[in-house]
Amino acid sequence: MVALEQYRRMAAALAKAGIEDAEYEADLMFRHITGRSRLAFLPEEPLAPKMQAALQQLCDDRCTRRPLQYLLGEWGFCNVVLKVGEGVLIPRADTETVVEKALELIAPCKAPRVLDLCAGSGAIGIAIKHERKDAQVTCVELSPKALYYLRQNAAPEEVDVVEADVLGYENQLLDTRYDLIISNPPYVTDAEYAALAPELAYEPKMALVAAQEGLRFYEYITKAYAPKLAEGGWLCFEIGASQRTDVCGFFEKNGYTEIQSIQDYAALDRCVFGRKRNVSAKMKL
Ligand code: GLN
Repeated sequence: MVALEQYRRMAAALAKAGIEDAEYEADLMFRHITGRSRLAFLPEEPLAPKMQAALQQLCDDRCTRRPLQYLLGEWGFCNVVLKVGEGVLIPRADTETVVEKALELIAPCKAPRVLDLCAGSGAIGIAIKHERKDAQVTCVELSPKALYYLRQNAAPEEVDVVEADVLGYENQLLDTRYDLIISNPPYVTDAEYAALAPELAYEPKMALVAAQEGLRFYEYITKAYAPKLAEGGWLCFEIGASQRTDVCGFFEKNGYTEIQSIQDYAALDRCVFGRKRNVSAKMKL
């Protein structure tokens, strides 16, 4: 078959299955299987039968609403490509906003010590390390399935991986104090989960849904990990769009300063951060 005809059929099938960015996804499939965008094919250029079969298989699988990221087995996030598959949360573009802010927060700090809690694929910690080679980054994750991907992603970037439950891991930390503790914890409520897009059902529920109306990890981490921050260190969270007030409240209750929030590129509240009170700086005043 002519390659562009195959592309058109795929885009149409994907659109019919309710996939929003059908043309974009069909093109990503083309790049994955043929190594070329469909734009690089000449109008009458044929497609090898093997490639055609592989593309058709990918397209059929995607029409079941299995996430494209799992079918491709890898996904780009910031400037890194991460291995992903069922059992680990897919890195999302929204989270890049959180990484950008975190890089800004640690910009003045030499060899920053960074702790990424509920790390999943390692997207946040690894993207930070990729930009800041001098950083010492540790990713903490509980799920064995997520750890399978996290370890593969972390190794080339020299990021440390710890298998532990974030709700309690603070007790294992001895003297290390972090310049940045960062987390994109589960934060979806049970009610929201029931209403999410079909693709989300393929993702691990433990990476998405949290108790206390999605606030469990924010409340826990702001309190339990405050003593683990260096003076002047930052705690930085990804949040759900309706959680800003509650999460800022946890920061205030636990004595953080310079508490701020920012929105993602869709203009939704996406990130809250605050600083551990800098006692020595205060004393100098
Ligand atoms: N942003 C994700 C979503 O859209 C949620 C990720 C999380 O719970 N940490 O579902």
